[in-house]
Amino acid sequence: MPLLYPLSSEENYVITAHVPEGLLLRPPGPGGPGSGSVPAKLFVKGGRIVHLQYFSAADKFPAGGGWKEIVIPPRQVLAPAFIDCHVHAALDGVNGFNGFQKPAEPQKVLEHLGRAAKVGVLAVRDGSDRFNSALVACRSGEPPPSPGPLPALVATGSAIFRQGCYGSFLAEKGITSIKEVYYKLQQLANMGADQLKVVLSGLVSFRQKGTVNGPLQFSLPEMEEMVKAASRFGLRVMVHASSDRAARLAAEAGVHSIEHGYFITPETLELMAERQVAWVPTVAPLFAVLENAPAGNTPAINRDAVAHAVEHQLEMIHAAHRSGVLLGLGSDAGSPGVGWDNGVALEMGLFARAGLNPVEILKVASQNGSRVLGLTGTMGALQEGLLPCFVCLDRNFLIQPGAHLKPEAVIFPSSMQTSLPSSPSAPETLL
Ligand SMILES: [Zn+2]
Repeated sequence: MPLLYPLSSEENYVITAHVPEGLLLRPPGPGGPGSGSVPAKLFVKGGRIVHLQYFSAADKFPAGGGWKEIVIPPRQVLAPAFIDCHVHAALDGVNGFNGFQKPAEPQKVLEHLGRAAKVGVLAVRDGSDRFNSALVACRSGEPPPSPGPLPALVATGSAIFRQGCYGSFLAEKGITSIKEVYYKLQQLANMGADQLKVVLSGLVSFRQKGTVNGPLQFSLPEMEEMVKAASRFGLRVMVHASSDRAARLAAEAGVHSIEHGYFITPETLELMAERQVAWVPTVAPLFAVLENAPAGNTPAINRDAVAHAVEHQLEMIHAAHRSGVLLGLGSDAGSPGVGWDNGVALEMGLFARAGLNPVEILKVASQNGSRVLGLTGTMGALQEGLLPCFVCLDRNFLIQPGAHLKPEAVIFPSSMQTSLPSSPSAPETLL
């Protein structure tokens, strides 16, 4: 379990740490090391990062007295906390939507989110459930069941799907005409939703190679109308789109993010880069199917079909990164085999297998996530003005990102917790 370190907005802190050089937003200046990590000091005052000082002695910050010093050991590096762009806060990571028949209690939802925060995930975007569980929980004001931070939550409420098609886990009832979208949007806005989730395709087939079950649920004009209608309510649109056709249609309609996108093609990725549509490839839940399935094929799972979908997704993640698509890291935490303690680590390991280097993965997991969630002025980078949300990682992460994924410490504003940490006399120096 990582060390949890809340920072009070009433106190001033100076954090001395090594920072991966590739994460610095401005060059550290002449005389610094060429690669790896650089020593830095981060000044935190009033609950915000107020100054970053790199190794350069010329870069003086008039700290004065009264700054609490936090020293991160040199065997660790400091990075922005993680942002998970796709979770299902109502689900347990074991059964997923199997047997999901009633709303998840707010305490259950908060327990899931608290577990994610304790491994460094300090913002999540919910991928919806039919009972609005996450939305209800985060607006309930209930304290979390155990001490520690809770992540910022971009809440969705229930989704829009076409009656008779895939999606009954994500909304109580499907729509029959596009006019119903306006009623639904009004409902979601009244409940305080931050965005709209639309289900455009079915699920990827675990039996037939390269296949997505079910038809496309909406036409291009219908999708365009939904995007326009949602924007009137100030809501971004995230779209469940497996299959290349679904992803392309969603991109043409100008949605904000495409979820899953299994079997997407390089041509569609180019269109997404051009239209600035984000992609959250959620490869972890598919990988988990392979990991947890019995050896050999079953009537439900053809291992070759699932392995092919995983491999294709990894290739496309690499292609998307190279062609400038805004990639978000989404674990689909809550799905079977994707737990709240390991979802982000699993997805990061898969991004490493796709060929992204450690710093690129850290950027996807923080800076990109803040763009996908609309939190760029709040968190996601080591930058003045943002909230002090950090993880401390074993520095071997920079050599071998598949391992050493568990943060050694999580640093967060104390306002992210609604009760005191178990150890109120937290040590001033992390050693
Ligand atoms: Zn999902």
